[in-house]
Amino acid sequence: MFMMAAETIDGKAVAKGIEDEVRAAIGELGFAPALVAVRVGNDAASEIYVRNKAKKAQELGLRGTELIFDASLSEAALLAEVERLNRDDDVDGILVQLPLPRQIDPRKVIDAIDPAKDVDGFHPTNVGLLHLGRPTLPPCTPAGVIRLLDAAGISIEGARAAVVGRSDIVGKPVAALLLQRHATVTICHSRTRDLAAVTREADILIAAIGRPLFVTAEMVKRGAAVIDVGVNRVDAAFAERLAHDEAKSRALAKNGYATVGDVDFARVREVAGWITPVPGGVGPMTIAMLMKNTVAAARRRRA
Ligand code: NDP
Repeated sequence: MFMMAAETIDGKAVAKGIEDEVRAAIGELGFAPALVAVRVGNDAASEIYVRNKAKKAQELGLRGTELIFDASLSEAALLAEVERLNRDDDVDGILVQLPLPRQIDPRKVIDAIDPAKDVDGFHPTNVGLLHLGRPTLPPCTPAGVIRLLDAAGISIEGARAAVVGRSDIVGKPVAALLLQRHATVTICHSRTRDLAAVTREADILIAAIGRPLFVTAEMVKRGAAVIDVGVNRVDAAFAERLAHDEAKSRALAKNGYATVGDVDFARVREVAGWITPVPGGVGPMTIAMLMKNTVAAARRRRA
């Protein structure tokens, strides 16, 4: 029997569209909103994330600044810095890159950020507004997931959606946004019994687990939309499990590592109706939505 492979949703192209909206919105504002990214310590992944965010901000006509502190920074000193940024009328968006060094409680830091400048959408006030379905600064990755579904023309209303993962930054908020759009949502996690039975029922499947190739073809309903949030770097130990994926195997052989999602892309694409690649799916959306939130924060605060 001839089967059509899933349509790949191009996150880079959708993100470009949002970036154009951001440029246009800045033009209308008549000033360049300021985004300050705070990084403590030298976690390699954080360094790349923050640099990419600051670079993108500048590219789109925002003012992007990176504040870098030594890993030994005290919690009190970081809270004082956040307070200073809160008071600085010229700062529109503040983001503190996680994870933070052990001596700093991330909850205290997030709670200290002015909700009006909380462009990551992590402050309890913004989380509450999100769950109430009221206007807020939505968290970037979940908002990006919804934009990808919309861009691909996938109907959310009435659909059965399964979200695998219940983190505060991805799983829970993406479930809240899907519910707002009238999907029937099931949130799954590590203690869900017979996970595959739940995911197989889903018209929309969101994987936000952090486990390479966790979602297999057997877990996916034919024709479903599969959005892969996971980003996992795997090495040669994974060669056998990736043998069926020509592109990833090639990358692995060439670089000694490959970046894969939580979904077994090569196999699931034979079953799904739509699928996002990793990289190039949700990742670019996260940064684009951060820029959009910064412009929205500037507009609201200075209106
Ligand atoms: P967390 O580690 O905070 O959460 C993972 C979730 O997956 C938990 O809720 C956990 O369940 C669940 N889980 C773990 N193992 C299983 C299992 N065997 N069966 C079912 N559920 C399981 O991760 P995040 O939400 O922060 O991130 C998820 C992934 O998304 C990561 O790969 C991360 O790198 C990526 N990410 C990508 C972004 C992007 O821009 N593309 C942005 C943010 C994250 P439990 O709660 O029971 O422990």
